[in-house]
Amino acid sequence: DFIQALQMPGSRDKIKKEPELSEHEKKKLTIEETKKSLPIFPFKDDLMQAVREHQVLIIEGETGSGKTTQIPQYLHEAGFTEDGKKIGCTQPRRVAAMSVAARVAQEMGVKLGNEVGYAIRFEDCTSERTIIKYMTDGTLHREFLSEPDLQSYSVMIIDEAHERTLHTDILFGLVKDIARFRPDLKLLISSATLDAQKFSEFFDEAPIFRIPGRRFPVDIYYTKAPEADYVDACVISVLQIHVTQPLGDVLVFLTGQEEIETCQESLQDRLRRLGSKVRELIILPVYANLPSDMQAKIFDPTPPGARKVVLATNIAETSLTIDNIIYVIDPGFAKQNHFNSRTSMESLMVVPISKASANQRAGRAGRVAAGKCFRLYTAWSYKHELEENTVPEIQRINLGNAVLMLKALGINDLVHFDFLDPPPHETLVLALEQLYALGALNHHGELTKMGRRMAEFPVDPMMAKMLLASEKYKCSEEVVTITAMLSVNSSVFYRPKDKIIHADTARKNFYHLAGDHLSLLNVYNQWKDTDYSLQWCYENFIQYRSMKRARDVREQLVGLMQRVEIEMVSNVSETVDIRKAITAGYFYHIARLSKGGSYKTVKHNQSVTVHPNSALFEELPRWILYHELVFTTKEFMRQVIEIESKWLLEVAPHYYKPKELEDSTNKKMPKTVGRSTRTE
Ligand code: ADP
Ligand code: MG
Repeated sequence: DFIQALQMPGSRDKIKKEPELSEHEKKKLTIEETKKSLPIFPFKDDLMQAVREHQVLIIEGETGSGKTTQIPQYLHEAGFTEDGKKIGCTQPRRVAAMSVAARVAQEMGVKLGNEVGYAIRFEDCTSERTIIKYMTDGTLHREFLSEPDLQSYSVMIIDEAHERTLHTDILFGLVKDIARFRPDLKLLISSATLDAQKFSEFFDEAPIFRIPGRRFPVDIYYTKAPEADYVDACVISVLQIHVTQPLGDVLVFLTGQEEIETCQESLQDRLRRLGSKVRELIILPVYANLPSDMQAKIFDPTPPGARKVVLATNIAETSLTIDNIIYVIDPGFAKQNHFNSRTSMESLMVVPISKASANQRAGRAGRVAAGKCFRLYTAWSYKHELEENTVPEIQRINLGNAVLMLKALGINDLVHFDFLDPPPHETLVLALEQLYALGALNHHGELTKMGRRMAEFPVDPMMAKMLLASEKYKCSEEVVTITAMLSVNSSVFYRPKDKIIHADTARKNFYHLAGDHLSLLNVYNQWKDTDYSLQWCYENFIQYRSMKRARDVREQLVGLMQRVEIEMVSNVSETVDIRKAITAGYFYHIARLSKGGSYKTVKHNQSVTVHPNSALFEELPRWILYHELVFTTKEFMRQVIEIESKWLLEVAPHYYKPKELEDSTNKKMPKTVGRSTRTE
């Protein structure tokens, strides 16, 4: 239960009452009418005039006002594609790029991938005919490698600038530079929130075009005490709303796929038990790995008499706008990557959101009518515990990838690169050191041939190095498969709540004693042997869609391997070479078994734990390599393999000294764990 504590700051006085359309009337609107009803529409001509008059323009407007879907169309109509050049628009999120492109294609009555298309990592849905191209910010970043002056574009829109992702931040510096050499290139920086002034200053006092928002009041409710289990609290809140509140759709913010699935199952469960006593409740998830046809469902109008509840990651905070949301449930958390420069550890963790985020989330309830936002935390906590703003990614994540890309673009002096907010000096230095240890930079900090090849791959430098190392260890087929499987990640194994035992048994059948990377390889190869069968996936609790994506990614990677002239060869007899290739990339991620069966990272002596889902959870090999860290109650290593310490001297002689790898505990280890000398 909630107490009403605060009004949303400033929301009351911002209201501009406008006659609202009923559900039924809404549905009758044609696409043309819908377009005309968006807040941006009355400003179309003024906006186009401003674009003609200024090279760089900052655009600020409330989420849902039509910036992302309309501006590229306005530009097209205004003639910015007449000279055969494209309009580009970046999005921080993959899902948004795909979804928005699909919507705009529909609005323009063209087939997605023709005049309107999108490009995301490992997927290019554009053609020769494409004139409006949505892409992730990371994809545009890579495009600079092949087209440093963005010659094929007449306008570039850096959208959702307020999200301040690493790639968006770096793009600011890159496009600002390009604009000087290309006076004909128009640059639009579009943002949902109040950072416009800061962007304007960065772009030499570029004018700000403000689209007045339409926002209805949103009442904020807080819990009296902190919630122990916020997923459960979400379920209860949704049901409470459904039973007690007038019709109107609900938006729930969760941190990721797993939580969303748990919440969905629990909701379905309870609804089933309530039976016909309650109205229809349509539950729709949306997260990055959800296939696009399923994502599109969130935009389907709710049937009369029913209610829709959308379970979303913070993709729905500003990137996607779902119409008719009246209720928002906000547990106050999001998943974030964090890099600790002291321990050199990067890890994914669930963290409290900022006040700015909380207010964005609440605002989603006030787009079409007065709404309500239920915060699953206390008013005190909002006031005293939440940070004002989210720290920009550039100041909290590992910069290895960004630095490699900038070096590949010929930008050598990173300290003086034009950053909107500079990264911490020590993270920059660590990134340079890491790239040096990987062989991507020489001791002058210049890109090596290896570095140039690494930059061809749209993956982080460690992964790129692992791919390149597969040449030496003659196992490119296997390493490419492993890379593809790692990139679709945890979503491969299906684990429905009511069949956990079966699912876990099925997963264990794929386990490989050398570790999880090899288990993933097993899954892929067995699937391939069934000729990519859906039925097989079903029987083995494997997510077919994830596998299909892995197959697509794999195909792309094979193409890139050809580009760097690595032959695809297979090494089936044993796994040592495969594991050495992995180690050549991930030698930063090594932990050793210490007394009491716990693991410590080699260089910084940090405690880490094998994830319970790992094949090696009960094995405890002496030396372990991990793919990533996930912090929940402690630092869990997800996807681990057993390695031998002497490989480290073979693959990273600059980084490891024999002394560091000595095993003083050798004799004291119980027999069962002394497996590091095992040969295959
Ligand atoms: P902004 O970028 O200013 O936040 P958008 O251009 O994303 O606004 O959204 C404008 C409108 O387009 C919203 O009403 C939104 O619901 C609608 N819209 C966006 N994508 C889709 C889609 N795939 N299907 C239906 N409507 C959509
Ligand atoms: Mg937008």
